[in-house]
Parts: sequence; structure tokens; C-alpha cells
Amino acid sequence: MVEFIDVMKRYPNGTVALKGINLKINKGDFAFIVGTSGSGKSTLLKLLMKEETVTEGEVIVNGYQLSTLVPKQIPYLRRGMGMVFQDFRLLPNKTVYENVAFAMEITECLPREIRRQVPMSLALVGLSRKANAYPHQLSGGEQQRVAIARSLVNNPALLIADEPTGNLDPENSWEIVKLLSEVNQRGTTVIVATHEKSIVDAMKKRVIAIDKGKIIRDQQKGLYGDED
Ligand code: ADP
Ligand code: ADP
Repeated sequence: MVEFIDVMKRYPNGTVALKGINLKINKGDFAFIVGTSGSGKSTLLKLLMKEETVTEGEVIVNGYQLSTLVPKQIPYLRRGMGMVFQDFRLLPNKTVYENVAFAMEITECLPREIRRQVPMSLALVGLSRKANAYPHQLSGGEQQRVAIARSLVNNPALLIADEPTGNLDPENSWEIVKLLSEVNQRGTTVIVATHEKSIVDAMKKRVIAIDKGKIIRDQQKGLYGDED
């Protein structure tokens, strides 16, 4: 599903954010990417989404070799992956329903499909009754659930979450992590970058630890670890 082969990423200012990255994440896996701030987690996810391009090596996602992907193909890549961010990234002037529907509209889905799929996605995250609310009327945890509903509405094979609980209190963080775990149990591959030790330790999932741009540990049913 996801493969990094000898990846090095250097930003234009000379910062080497990742080096010597070899990594395979199989279909149906749930993996945490852990590490302190600045270790390279976001860069790894940006390479996956083709928001950034590798300096050396190759990233393969869903059968796409990202280094050779032309801009025209990027929407096809992104259609196969849901993305969730720390700051939710909802559209403030659209309702919950419209935020989720928008993800389908931009991929030119049929209105009939949208009317069927959006309520299903909202039901999955337990927010059917908030369909007509605006983001500012929701708690942080609810906003993140909307973002997850939106990320799933096109039935992606892969869900990528960058610090999804970073703006949430512990209780809401747990709700979000449980939800991501349910999504994984339904067959979606899930990759979560986080520096929240308590969550990682409790989940006993695969842990890929990054430090200063290198993978220092890759462990099934792992713990956050105390390297840092
Ligand atoms: P993390 O997500 O673990 O906090 P990042 O991937 O954001 O780490 O950052 C890894 C390193 O790359 C850091 O040293 C950071 O300052 C640097 N970096 C990130 N983005 C850029 C950029 N656009 N230009 C230059 N350096 C960057
Ligand atoms: P939190 O527990 O994250 O602090 P809030 O106290 O903001 O959450 O919200 C608690 C409940 O009240 C949530 O279900 C939220 O949707 C609802 N709510 C909060 N603000 C508004 C509002 N302006 N209009 C309608 N519902 C709201």
C-alpha cells in the first residue's frame, strides 16, 4: 500500500528533514509515526500526499510511483487517500453536511451518490444530528469527527492523520483515536503521526519512531518509547 525506498528529503534552505528512510506499510495496517517536534513526521506525511517531493529515493502509494507522478494525476492519488489535520481545516461558511459533500463535489461525483454517501459518512462518526450546524457551533472533538467523515466520504484505501488530537482535550482525543481504530477495523489503512505518548502506549499498534530524520525503531504492538 505504502513504500518508502531509500528516501532523502532536503528542503530548499538546505535542511535535511529525512534520510535513509525505508518503510513498508501494508494494506489494512494501523501505524503510528512518533517523534518529537522537528523529527520529520510531517515531512514524511507530506511526501505521501505529494505535497512535497523526495530529493532522493522513491515513494509508492496505492501503486503510484510518486516521483514520476505528473500534476494531472495528483487528484487521482488524493482521491484514494483521506487526510485529517490537527487544525481540522473545515470550511467555516459551510455546514457540516456541506463540508463533507464538498469533498465529493470536487471529485465530480454524481449528486445522487453525494446524497447517499454524506449521511452514511456522518452516521459513521456519530454526527447525523449535527448535519446542519456550522463548524463554530461544534466542539473541537466534533469538528475533528466532521473532518474524519469528510476524509472517508470517497471511500479511500488509506487514511493519513497528522497530529489529529493535537488540539483536543484527553477525552476528545480518545474518542478520535477510537474512531480511527474503528475505521481501520473496517479495512482502511491508517497512518497517524503523533507525539502523544499515552495514546500510542495504550493502543499497542505498530510504532515507527523517527528521530532527526531517521527511523530509529519500527515495532509491532509497540510503545512510544523513551528515546526522547
Ligand atoms: P515534525 O512533523 O516531526 O515536527 P517536520 O517534518 O515538520 O517535523 O520537520 C522536520 C525538519 O524539517 C525540521 O528541522 C523542520 O524545521 C524542517 N522543515 C520542515 N518544513 C520545512 C520547510 N518547508 N523548509 C525548510 N525546512 C523545513
Ligand atoms: P467542549 O466539550 O469541547 O468544550 P462545547 O462545550 O463547546 O464542547 O460544546 C458542547 C456541546 O454544545 C457540543 O455538542 C456542541 O456541539 C454544542 N455547542 C457548542 N457551541 C454551540 C453553538 N454556538 N451552537 C450550537 N451548539 C453548540
